[in-house]
Amino acid sequence: MSFAASVLTLYPEMFPGALGLSLAGRALEAGTWSLEAIQIRDFATDRHRTVDDTPAGGGAGMVMRADVLAKAIDHASPPGDARPRLLMSPRGKPLTQARVRELAAGPGAVILCGRFEGVDQRVIDARGLEEVSVGDFILSGGEPAALVLLDAVVRLLPGVMGNAVSGEEESFENGLLEHPHYTRPQEFEGRPIPDVLISGNHRKIAEWRRAEAEKLTKERRPDLLADDPPR
Ligand code: SAH
Repeated sequence: MSFAASVLTLYPEMFPGALGLSLAGRALEAGTWSLEAIQIRDFATDRHRTVDDTPAGGGAGMVMRADVLAKAIDHASPPGDARPRLLMSPRGKPLTQARVRELAAGPGAVILCGRFEGVDQRVIDARGLEEVSVGDFILSGGEPAALVLLDAVVRLLPGVMGNAVSGEEESFENGLLEHPHYTRPQEFEGRPIPDVLISGNHRKIAEWRRAEAEKLTKERRPDLLADDPPR
């Protein structure tokens, strides 16, 4: 069974975009996953194909209409569709590797990309959308966020990554940032590769990597070491 992504967007031309190349692109061609980019505007009902309107209560910008979005969602995800419905949103729960793994183990995802000021709250409530953030900053639209999420998911699908082991040693997979990497040349601008890594002593190498990972995590991301780390 392959992972099926349906993306609702005002810019379907942005897909597959970067995901049409490299590992994700090859997996897309091989049918390991599928991607359907749906134009939200096709579900507008008026002559001008309007998808947004001014915010109730006043203020700057425009809001995406609940009725148009509901039609688009119902088309992409009819009753019985087991895929989670996600809304890319800076107000959402920050995306984590744990959630990425869960998504990769499931049947796919229906992903709504916001634009303008965002979407009418009523469609979020009525269609049970799960808001997902890719970080504490504001993008101009949900499309780059959807590409980020799908990239993270697709690389975990069976057969996509050449070396499956490397996936498990990655940053976040064991609650730590990853240790530093080195490769040839043996010396670069007067900086040698740490001795332990060329010692051939695999136990010592593993201990060194673990210690470096813990040090980096303590310095840069102490939140990952807390009793209740982000999940
Ligand atoms: N007015 C909103 C921001 C709207 S940005 C606010 O202050 O919360 C327009 C769209 O870009 C959003 O609807 C969302 O789909 C997307 N977006 C922006 N930043 C994002 C982020 N950090 N993570 C996920 N999606 C984001």
